[in-house]
Amino acid sequence: MSAPLLQVIGDPVLHSKSPLLHGAMLAALGLDIPYTPQVVPRGGLPGYLAWAKARPVLGFNATMPHKEDLIPLMDQLDEDAARIGAVNTVCLRDGRFIGYNTDGQGCLAALEQAGLWPRAQVMVLGAGGAAKAVALTLAAAGAEQVFVCNRTLDRAHALAQADPGSRIVPADFSPATLERLGAGAGLVVNATNLGMAGCGQFDDLSFLDALGRDAGVFDLVYHPAETELLAQARRRGLPACNGLPMLVHQAVLALERFLDRPLDRASLAQAAAAALERAGG
Ligand code: NAP
Repeated sequence: MSAPLLQVIGDPVLHSKSPLLHGAMLAALGLDIPYTPQVVPRGGLPGYLAWAKARPVLGFNATMPHKEDLIPLMDQLDEDAARIGAVNTVCLRDGRFIGYNTDGQGCLAALEQAGLWPRAQVMVLGAGGAAKAVALTLAAAGAEQVFVCNRTLDRAHALAQADPGSRIVPADFSPATLERLGAGAGLVVNATNLGMAGCGQFDDLSFLDALGRDAGVFDLVYHPAETELLAQARRRGLPACNGLPMLVHQAVLALERFLDRPLDRASLAQAAAAALERAGG
């Protein structure tokens, strides 16, 4: 049998930080398991899964454009992946593919680490894949209301319908709405592409003026490390955190699934974060 192998698949994937993060954590555990990026174009999942089963691989992470397409191809889904409708971590056990989603729990762990959780009212900006993972997780973790504000309102409605607890409330993305809902929010999470290198910027950040003194701002974007949203939040004295800790924590949780045993999450997160810092974020 071939030596164990872990991978991250996607297209594009060569920019992925997963090999760096997992490499650092595997080294910290003293495990000699390679973790490699593998380009798998859209439509290439059946061929990849057949190869992965034959080799066999221990497991793999998935990024764009595969997270949702993996759902019907799994033999089993964990509760989070089923609820979110997307898979970012796959384990191959006894010839069966098991799909997990660690994005939402990774975000929750990052919020806890930053002292931004728990909060009763949350305003999530965006209704894409990441927003869905975050909003559903925070609603399940005890937020009383999670307002999901999105440019395309239909997508916010669809996201709210996926919440079994009916705690997610869809809303539009107008400055007036962000200001009104922001006034009651203890936490604002940016899960849009706005602020990410190569993407657009927020036209209007005046909603930050409406936030309460104790409200926190969490930006899923981590490239650049300091977005305009975070800079403006800090200028107003608000606690603010970028998406790097979430990236680290979702990787720690994925490694626990791959190795199928509880790990010392805090020390692995430290090892992964240190590797990111050495690599310049
Ligand atoms: P996605 O599914 O493509 O969703 C993109 C979201 O951004 C949608 O809600 C979209 O609104 C909104 N958006 C895009 N351009 C906009 C604009 N000009 N004005 C207003 N809204 C706009 O992407 P995703 O996978 O959810 O990722 C979203 C962000 O999260 C990315 O920056 C990604 O890097 C980051 N992320 C970080 C982590 C982490 O670990 N830190 C994990 C996952 C994702 P419409 O629906 O109207 O198009």
